[in-house]
Amino acid sequence: MDSFVYNGQPVRVVFGSGTLSQLPNEVERLELKRVLVLSTAQQRQEADQLASLLGAAAAGVYANAAMHTPVSVTEDAMAVVADERIDGFVAIGGGSTTGLAKALALRTDLDQIIIPTTYAGSEMTPILGETKDGRKVTQSNSKILPEVVIYDVDLTLTLPPRLAVTSGINAIAHAVEALYARDRNPIVSMMAEAGVAALFTALPVIVERPRDRQARSAALYGAWLCGVCLGSVGMALHHKLCHTLGGTFDLPHAETHTVVLPHALRYNESAAEDAIAALKRALNVQDPADALFELARKLGAPTSLRELGMSEAGVAQTVDLALSNPYWNPRSLERDALLHLVTNAYAGARP
Ligand code: NAD
Repeated sequence: MDSFVYNGQPVRVVFGSGTLSQLPNEVERLELKRVLVLSTAQQRQEADQLASLLGAAAAGVYANAAMHTPVSVTEDAMAVVADERIDGFVAIGGGSTTGLAKALALRTDLDQIIIPTTYAGSEMTPILGETKDGRKVTQSNSKILPEVVIYDVDLTLTLPPRLAVTSGINAIAHAVEALYARDRNPIVSMMAEAGVAALFTALPVIVERPRDRQARSAALYGAWLCGVCLGSVGMALHHKLCHTLGGTFDLPHAETHTVVLPHALRYNESAAEDAIAALKRALNVQDPADALFELARKLGAPTSLRELGMSEAGVAQTVDLALSNPYWNPRSLERDALLHLVTNAYAGARP
């Protein structure tokens, strides 16, 4: 076996059905007395329910979390943290709410308990992307990594199947890039393969039977594994393209990942033999890039950047941006081939 470095991320994970009931114990375990419960406006009701569950240990609810973690929202929440003498955070929601908890933890070094309700995987990473004056700046810091994550399958039953599919393929993208990362290692690759397999099997069942607890459980488990991949090794061309598209054209996060992934994988496959072998095993197919395109198409997810609202002029601009300040990638970045990749993703062509 080749030598490698494995950097474990110390997050306590509570996984299962009905695990939300363990929140008071987890708050007590961390000796928190005045937590602030965080959510988006859409999930305010769930946040209020959490606050009731916590009783006196909840000092307030802040339900203004927003996509891409705007610094203005974080500063607004910081005022509540100071006024209410908050000593920890409980976040319920997707990557947007987790982002707010992380931004607050970065500024205060207080503990975070995250209760994810999508498959974005942010809860497993020490990474935070914040937006200020229309620019997204990403940083990594150990203060950002949450202390506890409670995965409760029951909370994901309400995630609409359409969102579940794009969020699930967003998670698969973390694992795909982990399999060909420069700093890949056997432990993370094992998680990546298991995570992809779990989600690839579960997503079609969720579309057919949204309340199928077994499929929801498999998807959430897969999302956790894929989140660990994202937090443990470096990402490459696919994530660079998605960050560029999201930041420059304000395209929706999970949908953009869903459209780009098959094309980015096709671009990289000749330089990622081991990753392709792992994906063939995980998906039980001969052509992983095609299978991921088919998964999105069959499940009614977007397959083109055009339908996400990008203009055709954005294609060349994306290539220019991807070439400037690029991430490491297994295959060298060639302008013509990249143009082909982004043009196909724009048009929704088969990869
Ligand atoms: P999101 O958090 O924006 O959620 C989308 C919408 O769905 C929100 O309105 C939310 O309230 C709602 N929602 C969430 N769960 C629901 C449920 N179970 N039922 C009904 N509605 C529900 O979307 P996301 O895709 O989870 O996260 C995207 C954000 O996370 C982006 O800003 C992205 O950059 C960030 N992200 C960061 C990292 C990281 O490591 N830093 C990783 C992945 C994603």
